[in-house]
Amino acid sequence: MTAHILLVEDEVKLARFVELELSYEGYKVSIAHDGLTGLTTARESQPDLVILDWMLPGLSGLEICRRLRSTGDQVPIILLTAKDEVSDRVAGLDAGADDYVVKPFSLEELLARVRAHLRRTQEADSDILQFEDLSLNRSTREVHRGTRLIELTAKEFDLLEYLLTNPRQVITRDRILEEVWDYDFMGDSNIIEVYIRYLRLKLEANNEKRLIQTVRGVGYVLRE
Ligand code: CA
Repeated sequence: MTAHILLVEDEVKLARFVELELSYEGYKVSIAHDGLTGLTTARESQPDLVILDWMLPGLSGLEICRRLRSTGDQVPIILLTAKDEVSDRVAGLDAGADDYVVKPFSLEELLARVRAHLRRTQEADSDILQFEDLSLNRSTREVHRGTRLIELTAKEFDLLEYLLTNPRQVITRDRILEEVWDYDFMGDSNIIEVYIRYLRLKLEANNEKRLIQTVRGVGYVLRE
C-alpha cells in the first residue's frame, strides 16, 4: 500500500525538491504552500503522515499541529524548523508533533524519520503490540515475556494493552481510569496501583527487568 504524505512548505523550490525525492521513494505526495491550505488538505485528504514547516504564511506549523490534535487527529507529524533552541523543540512536541527535523537537513535524515514514523503507525494498527521482550496479541489475547506465556485477567490485559499502545509516554492515573475502566472514577485511584502491582509480579516472575515504571505523583510509564 502506498503511503500518502502531505508536505506543507512555503519555500517552493525546497517543497519541489522534497516532493520529487519522496515520490522517487514511492510515496504519494500532496503539497501545500501555506498554512491554511495545509490544514484543509490534512483534514480532507487524511494523509498517512504530515511534514510541516514551522514558519508558514497564514497559519504556523505549530498552529496546524495544535488544531489537528485538538480534533483527535493522530496522524504522525514531523516539523521542519530552522530553530534549534531546546524551548522551540519542546513547544513543537507540546503542540503534538511527533518529531522535528532541523533545517538545513539532509534528505536521508528526513527519509529515515518518515520511514520510522510510518512503520510505527503500521505496528499500531496490527494485532501484536511489542515493547522490549514483552509482546501482547490482541486477537489471541496472549501475552509473552520472551518465550514465557503470562496468564492475565481481563482487566490486567486491558491495562497492559493500554500501556503498550503508549510506550515511553507518562500516563496519568486519571487517564488510565478513563481509558481502561471506562468511567469517571470518583473515589481514590488505589485500584490502579493494585493492578500495576499484579502486572509487575506476573511480568517479573523470572526476575526480568522492570518495564512499568512509576512516575511519582503522576502515573506510570512503560520504559526500560
Ligand atoms: Ca517557511
